Amino acid sequence: MTFDADIIIAGTGPAGLMTAEQAAARGLKTIVLEKRERVTDSLMGELVTDKALRFLRVKPSSEYIGNKYTRIIGESLDTGANIIVDRTHLGNSYLLDEDKCQELMRDRAISHGAEFRYRSRVSSVIKEDKQVVGLRYNKDDEVRGPLSVGADGSFSRVSETAGFTHPKWLLSYGYRFKLVGCKDIDPDTAYFYVGKDVGLGYLWLYPRSESEINLGIGRVPSSKHNWERLPPMRDVLRKYMKTHPETQNARIGSVNGGVVPCAGIIPRFTNAGVSLCGNAAGQVSSIVGGGVTTCFHAGIMLAKHAKRMADEGDYSSKSVGRYEKEYRSTKIANNISNTGKGMWAVSKFAMHNDPIAAAELVLGGKLDAKVLNELIQGHAGVSTIMTLVSEFLPMVMKISVGYMKSVAISGV
Ligand SMILES: Cc1cc2nc3c(=O)[nH]c(=O)nc-3n(C[C@H](O)[C@H](O)[C@H](O)COP(=O)(O)OP(=O)(O)OC[C@H]3O[C@@H](n4cnc5c(N)ncnc54)[C@H](O)[C@@H]3O)c2cc1C
Repeated sequence: MTFDADIIIAGTGPAGLMTAEQAAARGLKTIVLEKRERVTDSLMGELVTDKALRFLRVKPSSEYIGNKYTRIIGESLDTGANIIVDRTHLGNSYLLDEDKCQELMRDRAISHGAEFRYRSRVSSVIKEDKQVVGLRYNKDDEVRGPLSVGADGSFSRVSETAGFTHPKWLLSYGYRFKLVGCKDIDPDTAYFYVGKDVGLGYLWLYPRSESEINLGIGRVPSSKHNWERLPPMRDVLRKYMKTHPETQNARIGSVNGGVVPCAGIIPRFTNAGVSLCGNAAGQVSSIVGGGVTTCFHAGIMLAKHAKRMADEGDYSSKSVGRYEKEYRSTKIANNISNTGKGMWAVSKFAMHNDPIAAAELVLGGKLDAKVLNELIQGHAGVSTIMTLVSEFLPMVMKISVGYMKSVAISGV
């Protein structure tokens, strides 16, 4: 069979772009299909830790970084109780310039010969004898290659038509304003807010400068009934703007939104001739809904295996599965699985209990910043578990066995 490329990638989010850049740099003939008209003007997500900068190979002082934070504050919109997580627990956090980062990865890929086909909406994989041999897109177009990658987001067509499923698929819905014309913003501090209007999730404020911020909200529907009781996410952001003097006269520069999976990595994301990457595979840090760093990590590893497969001429299920095996053994994958289990358990808890009351307890000063950070990142140590058991036993018991299990697993 003649192929058009060594690797075909659906989607130009952080997962697809990083896979494309790295595959092309390794000498693989790379074709990228994207339904939109360009790689920019989309929501890539911007708050990252220094790990993302290392994966992207950019310096903190470069034009790709919009801002750097020395602390993050978690606060209740209802009571004002807060907890400060500073750099000693967090490491450095940065705000990317998503358009510039997207252009950087695209240009690197093109400089190594990758071809980008825009306005190309993938409809399905092409299967022959149980092997995926390419992708169909738009009406009747198709492109053939020995490895097809579904980096086409939470509602991946590649995933669906290749037959991958997640029995516990849990989605977080997000909405973001980029605001200009704010005043007196402290550019060194990012905020995460919880509150009864927010629901199961958080509202975030990431400054770009003293006058520009990202103001967003993400929430998980624990049940249809709970979701319908909440005000629309847009209204919650507007209320925040109205009630805070820093944003009262601000202008909305752009609006964007999207959906992030937060029940962890899907049970299987590789098969003969096909792999998923990024949101499509559930490779997202579940509690914070952070996917940029994890997508970079997954894309780099996938490209490395794509090169190995090309060298060996082996795209069997077992060979593609070696990527999945190595990926699952990483610390990042372990953390995603732990936070995914935690998030799943919390969403079940929230069906019948008030998660905001639990959050108030946390913000009320009973849990210190180190413990909170470890839980969010999914790598709680033994001392953290002891703290939780002694201080929060009743709450932790309520939040169910799944949550305990997720904490315990990450402690060993
Ligand atoms: C509001 C919001 C804020 C966020 N903020 C952050 C943050 O600050 N930090 C962080 O780390 N993460 C953040 N995230 C999460 C992060 O954005 C995602 O995890 C990440 O973008 C996932 O990357 P991806 O490449 O897997 O998928 P996506 O970014 O969803 O990209 C998928 C790409 O595939 C294309 N596509 C889809 N279907 C098809 C098709 N059929 N054919 C061809 N192309 C297709 C899409 O147009 C898109 O370009 C945020 C998410 C949201 C919703």
